[in-house]
Amino acid sequence: MNQFQYVKPSDLKSALTILAKDPTARCIAGGTNLIDLMKKGIVVVEKLVDINNLPLKNIETLDKVVRIGALVLNSDAAENKIITAQHPLLSLALNAGASPQLRNMATVGGNILQRTRCSYFCDRYMPCNKRQPGSGCGALEGYNRMHAIFGGSDACIAVHPSDMCVALSALDASVVISGIKGEYRIAINEFLRLPGDHPEKDNMLEKAALITAVEIPHHTFTKNIYYLKIRDRSSYAFALVSVAAALEISNGVINDVRLALGGVAHKPWRLYQSEKYLIGKQVSEFNFREAADLALKNAKGYKYNAFKLKMVPGAIVEALQKAVSAT
Ligand code: SF4
Repeated sequence: MNQFQYVKPSDLKSALTILAKDPTARCIAGGTNLIDLMKKGIVVVEKLVDINNLPLKNIETLDKVVRIGALVLNSDAAENKIITAQHPLLSLALNAGASPQLRNMATVGGNILQRTRCSYFCDRYMPCNKRQPGSGCGALEGYNRMHAIFGGSDACIAVHPSDMCVALSALDASVVISGIKGEYRIAINEFLRLPGDHPEKDNMLEKAALITAVEIPHHTFTKNIYYLKIRDRSSYAFALVSVAAALEISNGVINDVRLALGGVAHKPWRLYQSEKYLIGKQVSEFNFREAADLALKNAKGYKYNAFKLKMVPGAIVEALQKAVSAT
């Protein structure tokens, strides 16, 4: 690891001033991803800005949203009474992520900003357009079992590794950002981006800005919800495919539905067409299968991940069925 300067500002204004003066400075909170990347030489940091003293650790119910501070730990968010009562889908997704030890260190803001675990990205001797733009993509013709089947490009087919973000996508959450322009919000479905020609850019966070909170609008998806995660082992493994499903049902009819996939794209993959199809339909396996088939539109499998094309529809149907029978 190279030598770097370490600073620990005590308030947001000081942190933003440091970031504005030095565009190469990097923020650290839980460090569960960044420290690994620094040790491997994948990210080289000159100045590390420890933001753990900033007052961003609250979870509160506001007029139209639940606001979760960026420094709230994943484990605290998962067990928080406001979250378990108002956004239990988020709680399920958080508890499906990583391991208890990591959830006790990782923050909500860091979870959003974590980098892909593509093995070519994580090996600095391999070609990777995300790590080194223009060097090529080792995964396109390489071992791409964990990679994207939706929204990839000729430059990158990496997936976003978060479970939490899949639930946030389904719940239409927004990312609250503080920067030189002041505070502003971006829908998480816009904040996390597809790779296109610039896979080095994971998200819309500008230089000299940081995530201060996540806001989830109020809704009534509190009963018929499920987070299904298919992975190689039952803990501490990234999703091959995951599904966040939330339904509002009355007299057997679906009044509203949210569906988002994880493990299949550079960002959580929201299934708007499947949702549209299901609204107003009866709860039935037939309708769930039709919605699942719609989800596969524009999917593209590669040599080692084509199995996901079969796994996705089955996972969607199972997640919807389990959401229906959830209490
Ligand atoms: Fe790099 Fe993306 Fe290709 Fe992985 S898939 S090697 S992250 S460019």
